[in-house]
Amino acid sequence: MIIRPQSAADISSLIPILAKNNTPFAVRSGGHDMFNRSQVRDGVTIDMRDIAYVHIADDKASARVGGGIMSRYLEEQLEALGLTTPCPLHGAVGYVGWATHGGYGPLSTMYGLGVDQIIGAKVIIASGDVIDADKELLVGIRGGGGIVGVIAELVIRVYPVYENLGGVIQFPSSPIPETINNFWSKYSKLMDETPPPPNLTIYHAMINSDPPTLTMFFCWTSPSAQDVDGAGSWLQKILALAPNPTHTVGKTQISAFIQILEIMLPATVYGTIYTLNLRSVTPTAAEVMARGFESIPYGTPSNIAYHQLRGAFTTPSSASVFTARYPHYVVEIISLTQEESQEQDVIRWGKAVQDDFRQDKTGNVLPGSYINLTPAGDVDLDGTYGEEGLAVLRRLKAQYDPENVFRNALVRL
Ligand SMILES: Cc1cc2nc3c(=O)[nH]c(=O)nc-3n(C[C@H](O)[C@H](O)[C@H](O)COP(=O)(O)OP(=O)(O)OC[C@H]3O[C@@H](n4cnc5c(N)ncnc54)[C@H](O)[C@@H]3O)c2cc1C
Repeated sequence: MIIRPQSAADISSLIPILAKNNTPFAVRSGGHDMFNRSQVRDGVTIDMRDIAYVHIADDKASARVGGGIMSRYLEEQLEALGLTTPCPLHGAVGYVGWATHGGYGPLSTMYGLGVDQIIGAKVIIASGDVIDADKELLVGIRGGGGIVGVIAELVIRVYPVYENLGGVIQFPSSPIPETINNFWSKYSKLMDETPPPPNLTIYHAMINSDPPTLTMFFCWTSPSAQDVDGAGSWLQKILALAPNPTHTVGKTQISAFIQILEIMLPATVYGTIYTLNLRSVTPTAAEVMARGFESIPYGTPSNIAYHQLRGAFTTPSSASVFTARYPHYVVEIISLTQEESQEQDVIRWGKAVQDDFRQDKTGNVLPGSYINLTPAGDVDLDGTYGEEGLAVLRRLKAQYDPENVFRNALVRL
């Protein structure tokens, strides 16, 4: 059964009935969890998508957003008032699932991850009570998501925009090993020697097109006129990293920028995703990428992509249970095909590439992984949350959901 609540009050009436009858249920917003954690077999899906309001505060520094809002719609509402906030790279990803479990994406170098934007939350707990999250519950929601309840509303930080520059840069990647190795050695040197200002966020993807391409999603945000200047010179530095680049970078809005991936990716696919966190893209890691790229099952839209976290938001903080607070890359081994008959091929490929990365025993492969991209059975809770974060989550669980009514939440202790 799919239930589409229209308000927090609807959810408040529903949860005690599901709890009393021990009915399995899961909460769904954008439906982009790659491991189906927003559905449950022979149970109820609470589809949040009708709770999708955006109320911007008078001081334009924060917004209250409904628990089922999609990221592109949120950005469109903010842009109408000259505002923005960090968001995923794909506009159809649900904002709450993204933000509460981590939240990498454009503007995260400038303003932090999704978890860093959350300053308030309205949660429906097992009893059906609608509560405003206190300080400790907010710490848990920032990384633990809906671990103790349905999130009906988040209050988030929003920021002024003067101008944004965004688009895709592509380098033909043939011959594959040489191009990839050269690119990453130059890119890593550039990042180490002259780190770009936080205005610039880059997402990397190696795309199995014809010809195969090294692709970068370039996003430069300028909150004021003074920030505009550096954009052009950074674009030129990036374009100089490999031969024969083409690009579409120009003035844009974030809502349009996050539509690029929506258009590029097929809507219906078979497969899965594998992930791990790397401290840096060393020559060994670049070689693994090249080997992985060369062995992508023929003609599938599988690819290897990276979120990079750098800048101010890499210092440890007790404000969230999200502990990957050091410069790192989230590697996404996106194992997809549009043909059902190729599904096992791409799954085997993805697992082999992940194993290949893990052969590196120098400490470059970090403990834990991005929980949004890790299947429940593979989650290393200690590595992902650390001792302190895990203690917070366990305390919240005991306080708000001792019967484990929300056992199908993404984070399972
Ligand atoms: C194409 C694609 C692009 C992506 N891009 C990025 C990216 O750029 N950056 C990044 O960090 N991640 C990215 N992801 C991962 C994505 O952020 C997570 O999968 C996220 O959890 C999806 O949220 P959703 O609402 O779309 O999915 P859903 O499957 O609906 O929900 C995901 C999880 O959140 C829970 N949840 C959702 N809403 C609520 C709520 N209101 N209350 C309680 N629990 C709730 C669900 O129960 C489920 O466990 C991407 C995934 C895909 C498939």
